[in-house]
Amino acid sequence: MNEKYDVIIIGGGMVGGTLACALADSDLRVAVIERAELTPFDPDSEHDLRVSALSIASERILNHVGAWDGIVARRVCAYRRMKVWEESETAASTLFTSDDIGYTHLGHIVENRIVQLAIIERLKQLDNVDLIAPVDITAIDYSPGSSLIELSDGRQLIAKLLVAADGGESKVRSAVGIGVHRWDYEQHALVASVTTEYGQQDITWQQFTPTGPLAYLPLTGNNASLVWYNTPENIARLKSLSHEHLLEAIQHKFPACLGNVNHCLSVGSFPLRRQHALAYQKDGVVLIGDAAHMIHPLAGQGVNIGLLDAAVLAEVLTGQSAQTDNEFWSSHVLAVYEKRRKQHNLSIMQTMDAFYRVFSNDHLPLKVLRNVGLRVAGKLTPARNKVMSFAMGLEGDLPAIAR
Ligand SMILES: Cc1cc2nc3c(=O)[nH]c(=O)nc-3n(C[C@H](O)[C@H](O)[C@H](O)COP(=O)(O)OP(=O)(O)OC[C@H]3O[C@@H](n4cnc5c(N)ncnc54)[C@H](O)[C@@H]3O)c2cc1C
Repeated sequence: MNEKYDVIIIGGGMVGGTLACALADSDLRVAVIERAELTPFDPDSEHDLRVSALSIASERILNHVGAWDGIVARRVCAYRRMKVWEESETAASTLFTSDDIGYTHLGHIVENRIVQLAIIERLKQLDNVDLIAPVDITAIDYSPGSSLIELSDGRQLIAKLLVAADGGESKVRSAVGIGVHRWDYEQHALVASVTTEYGQQDITWQQFTPTGPLAYLPLTGNNASLVWYNTPENIARLKSLSHEHLLEAIQHKFPACLGNVNHCLSVGSFPLRRQHALAYQKDGVVLIGDAAHMIHPLAGQGVNIGLLDAAVLAEVLTGQSAQTDNEFWSSHVLAVYEKRRKQHNLSIMQTMDAFYRVFSNDHLPLKVLRNVGLRVAGKLTPARNKVMSFAMGLEGDLPAIAR
């Protein structure tokens, strides 16, 4: 017999897992389907390649859903300062500090796997949530209010509401016929997990160069994650280097404040794409996280806006449908979520595009403009506060659990 659920979340990544945890106190019966098997955390292990800068809003959401303690118990690095500047020695630089606005920190850098492990640990404690993993989807038969999902282990499940949390290449989104608007940035990102001569840092910095930014994200101890944005060809060339030669290239290109880099532990590269779903919902299906939007990672906002999607959707499913006669999976209810999130995500995408175009450029008027911009952002209190509240995820129509 087919097993029936109110909500089936396809993708137990950071965003899908958070939605399941946020539905803990509801009457909804929830299943999370995840195809990957996560290796458990070993405190002596090297840092993973994939890390994220989590905003204050994300910390609040993860804390509220009961996953934050599991993150802190594993490995996390708070940052209190954020610095941005241009390549040239004489150019403006701007330093933002949490002290300026009375916070203890601006955010945390965390390995993605640790966030996911803590979320999954939490959702396994919930009575109304089943985690079905590792298993893939073999077929999706979309039917509003009663979609049928076939799993690779032969099981068949029925969902009133299907949630696509299965990332940028979302199978669910394609199966239900929601298109995307997409283009590739002419930039790839090389991510390197390294150890440096310096002990633990409380600063994240980004230097803008005409070919793309260079970023430093602190991890615990003397570990750090470096991100080097450049043309697809140059990133492919850098990635093909031996670790020894890559270290030389990093040392040559990155600013002196990085210090000596001792080891390169792992390296990966990522094509950068902007992608936005044409709709976030229709009867019986809804998109969250990268399944709905992918943005340039230069300001580290992708998962942060995904967690806001998850929190707002949980708020709408548990609040809005109770206030109306509409079914919780109907487009009438889901449109409230779409309205609250789509415009906010679009404005963040547009801000990232503006950064990408203004900073990855050697055009003289733009150079002047961005230097003026950096000086203004650094000196004027309202502008500083605006930049900081953006980076901390505290802008816009926030769900109650992020306030
Ligand atoms: C270089 C780089 C740096 C970044 N840095 C930051 C940062 O600092 N801060 C930030 O906020 N964001 C950052 N991002 C963006 C961030 O990584 C993504 O926005 C985030 O991972 C999206 O989370 P998600 O859960 O929506 O999707 P995903 O992380 O893609 O998770 C999708 C999940 O669904 C599962 N899945 C997929 N298909 C199926 C299926 N058919 N059946 C079952 N399960 C399935 C996958 O296994 C996975 O667990 C960065 C991105 C890049 C490329």
